[in-house]
Amino acid sequence: MGRGDTHQKNRERRRNGNAEQHGYFPRYVALQIKRADGKWFHPGLTSPAACGFVQARGEFLLRVGALQVLVVGAGVVGLAVARAAAVAGHDVIAAEAADAIGTGISSRNSEVIHAGMYYPSGSLRARHCVRGNRLLHAYCQSRGIAHRKCGKLIVATSAAEQDKLEAIHRQGLANGVPGLRLIDGKTARAMEPELDCIAALHSPETGIIDGHSFMLALQGDLESHGGAIAFETPVERIARAGSGWRVAFDGRDAGTLEVDAVVNSAGLRAQTLARQIEGYPAERVPRLVLAKGNYFSYTGRPVFTRLIYPTPVDGGLGVHVTLDLAGRMRFGPDVEWIEREDYEVDARRADQFYARIRTYWPGLRDGTLVPDYCGVRPKLTGPGEPAVDFLVEGPSAHGLPGLVNLFGIESPGLTSALSLADDIVAGLVR
Ligand SMILES: Cc1cc2nc3c(=O)[nH]c(=O)nc-3n(C[C@H](O)[C@H](O)[C@H](O)COP(=O)(O)OP(=O)(O)OC[C@H]3O[C@@H](n4cnc5c(N)ncnc54)[C@H](O)[C@@H]3O)c2cc1C
Repeated sequence: MGRGDTHQKNRERRRNGNAEQHGYFPRYVALQIKRADGKWFHPGLTSPAACGFVQARGEFLLRVGALQVLVVGAGVVGLAVARAAAVAGHDVIAAEAADAIGTGISSRNSEVIHAGMYYPSGSLRARHCVRGNRLLHAYCQSRGIAHRKCGKLIVATSAAEQDKLEAIHRQGLANGVPGLRLIDGKTARAMEPELDCIAALHSPETGIIDGHSFMLALQGDLESHGGAIAFETPVERIARAGSGWRVAFDGRDAGTLEVDAVVNSAGLRAQTLARQIEGYPAERVPRLVLAKGNYFSYTGRPVFTRLIYPTPVDGGLGVHVTLDLAGRMRFGPDVEWIEREDYEVDARRADQFYARIRTYWPGLRDGTLVPDYCGVRPKLTGPGEPAVDFLVEGPSAHGLPGLVNLFGIESPGLTSALSLADDIVAGLVR
């Protein structure tokens, strides 16, 4: 049976609401109402009998799922989790405070499909980045999402940096990153003639992606598997309700919703929301440290065809050359530790950008960089402290069934999204 057939069957199964026939017994039946504007509204849960009544009036579409799952946040990670849960046959709503998908961290990044060579072996970042890279390239291919495996060079401009490069190479091999190759400066210059370096690490599996198209495809999959996104619906509080959760939300359709499982994928607000979860131990909520990453765009003709990275710095991967799918060049992100969110790029930071970029591209001319955009990393550690892993807090960590909190999902969260989502959804039914 093809995938299309399976999906069709799933849809029919939900419409029929015939749980017994299909071998599972929902604790609740979920109602979703199709409004005049074509959007789905999910007012809550009710008994099968009540559903039968309203269904008989012909105004509602009845859907029954294995689990009622609420995902908080429709950034790339929340969307990937919601999609994976819907594909697995659950009834899924994603509640999003904003009026569109991906308006948070997910719209303010480098749109790089990372390969996974930086992160410690066995870490979630290593595992999900390496696997996520493969899944994401395949997903882009199958869904016609604009992307390009342009490759990347990490460059060393001094002996000390060369040692760092070799360490990254060893780490990449340990993480199972395919195709990594250490090359000398001459070989690197043959690939990118404007480059000045004594050695480089070539990663052919690194690429770039149109992040918004990726998120649209995730939303499309979610909806075609019966899920929905409730926009302008900020989740305010979450409390235990039987073996599940009662979620209180504000906004357009303020109210409460009872669900079996909640995934907190609220990005920069994940900690704020976790503090509003009844029974969630306060000491399990990690501190949030904000590290802004500023970008400057380059106004001249692009000179590189690959992504060019210096060796990493405290808090980030160093001011690197990123390319968009039209081949335009921009530089960033740097690391600016901040107390509260702000999205202004200070033009005075250009001086540091020129200095850093000229270490590997001496040909950069004055007056060619202009402030572009910035993003804010939801870090869990601060300046001078070792970087830490993604923090995925599920029932095995905190003991509360059907609850997953995602903290510190900074880079490579975009690359990791599909892989992370698979694990999180598998964990919901364990
Ligand atoms: C500067 C920078 C560069 C990066 N570059 C890369 C890169 O090149 N490659 C890569 O793989 N990764 C990169 N990343 C990381 C990647 O962008 C993030 O890991 C990813 O976007 C996080 O997605 P998210 O869904 O967790 O968060 P978000 O996109 O922030 O989504 C969270 C959503 O939750 C919503 N929300 C918050 N609170 C509530 C609430 N109470 N109720 C309802 N909704 C709520 C928000 O409105 C938001 O839409 C970068 C990050 C930064 C900051």
